[in-house]
Amino acid sequence: MLRSPAAAVPDEALIAGQWRRGAGAPAETVDPATGLVLATVHAVSVAEVDEAAEGAARAAADPAWRSLLPHLRARLLHRTADLIDESAEHLAALQTADTGKALTETRALVASAAGTFRYTAAALETAEEAITPSRGDYVTMSRYEPIGVVGAINPWNSPVASDAQKLAPALAGGNAVLLKPAEWTPLVSLALGRLITRAIGELGLPAGLLSVLPGRGSVVGDAIVRHPLTGKVTFTGGTDTGRTIAHAAAEKLMPVSLELGGKSPTIVLADADIEQALAGVMFGIFSSSGQSCVAGSRLFVARELYDSFVGRLVERVEELRVGPGTAPDTQVAPLVHHKHRDSVAAHVERARGEGARVLCGGSVPPGDAYRDGAYYLPTVLAGLDNTSLTCQEEIFGPVLVALDFDGEEDLVRQANDSVYGLACGIWTRDHRAAWRIARRIDAGTVWINTYKQFSITTPFGGLKDSGLGREKSRDGIRAYQRQKSLYWGTSDAPLPWAN
Ligand code: NAP
Repeated sequence: MLRSPAAAVPDEALIAGQWRRGAGAPAETVDPATGLVLATVHAVSVAEVDEAAEGAARAAADPAWRSLLPHLRARLLHRTADLIDESAEHLAALQTADTGKALTETRALVASAAGTFRYTAAALETAEEAITPSRGDYVTMSRYEPIGVVGAINPWNSPVASDAQKLAPALAGGNAVLLKPAEWTPLVSLALGRLITRAIGELGLPAGLLSVLPGRGSVVGDAIVRHPLTGKVTFTGGTDTGRTIAHAAAEKLMPVSLELGGKSPTIVLADADIEQALAGVMFGIFSSSGQSCVAGSRLFVARELYDSFVGRLVERVEELRVGPGTAPDTQVAPLVHHKHRDSVAAHVERARGEGARVLCGGSVPPGDAYRDGAYYLPTVLAGLDNTSLTCQEEIFGPVLVALDFDGEEDLVRQANDSVYGLACGIWTRDHRAAWRIARRIDAGTVWINTYKQFSITTPFGGLKDSGLGREKSRDGIRAYQRQKSLYWGTSDAPLPWAN
């Protein structure tokens, strides 16, 4: 089979500071724009997960890391950010090749990854131990200490950004990390691992601080979660997998944070700025080809506006440019993998069976240019009820269902009728209505007159089946630490049982 030039990443895992080929089974990673094999990456074995966990535990306990003052620990994050910037074009091209995403998007994700390391470094440098108010002749202090070994498990949709979102605060917290990338997209995590290894070496820090362990989730991921030395797992991925991990964590009484799936409502009120809402609704679902946890996949339009808005929306969606991620004008790039494209197509077939009308899309694009890639046309469905399976299950592809509502009560009832609670968009000129609705919607993030904007300063996470815990913000580091309280006696008076 032909090899893509992006196969510059050696087939090596990072195991407790050592780069070497994993002893597990090989897996091919494919460029979804062409169907060509990019690289073969051997999984690590369960024995190698053991080795990595032991190396991580040693590194986490090493005074050269554990006793480092926060501003010195922050140097690792600053250096990583600089190295990401220096390799930005390579990382973006690699992520485009491995995930199919448009280069415009992967460039922004790489820049955000560097920003995440820098912001977290600054948060670490300025973090303070809390002296707490006391109620006696003692001083009390609440300290934050490292957990030790953190398992970080990520999905395939935005590896560079999700890796940074976990690695930066986990390292800042004084831990060592076992990172498992998705089997379909290991290349960016391995490339990032090379940069961090370089920074670790330059700063003379313990080599086992980071392991990058490719392989199947049910084997390598499971071994990381269940390992006795793993003290916390931070997971991003599907709700079913998150639940499996939470069960395993419960047995160990280990903390987990879970960033899971979504089926987010995007709401257009009758007074919305129509042009802004059209652009925002399209971007909310069709950017990243819908492979975004926060994708606005259920569109609720005020009944009086429904026909005209959805009519215009369909015209605009039909104009979206579908193409390879490397083409500068591509708006909708291929899906991550042919198998995932087939799963999206199966969802649309099932929607037809549920009585959906396909207003546009609903198939792979015609033409030779799209023959070998994992393409699927941006699709708008109508004629379904919010209780249909199509509206209740996450599709994770470029598929939008248009629904209507009659008044605020009906809107809130339908929007909240979902097991998920990740995100929501509201398009309106009425700031009071936006405020009222935003407070009533079950979602970890609500965007008003914007969508899919992210700031590292702002906590992110889900409600209900969309997850547990929050990432990002200054407090993000605390999620990777244990809190310990100290009491310091200051009184000369005898203690209660003193003679
Ligand atoms: P997934 O199947 O749950 O996989 C996510 C990761 O977990 C992969 O690395 C996977 O390995 C691993 N894994 C699978 N089974 C495991 C197990 N038993 N123990 C430990 N690890 C295991 O999810 P996906 O299909 O890759 O990603 C799509 C999902 O991620 C969607 O539901 C999406 O909404 C969600 N997501 C959520 C957020 C958020 O922030 N809320 C962000 C992005 C994506 P393999 O690669 O071998 O399967």
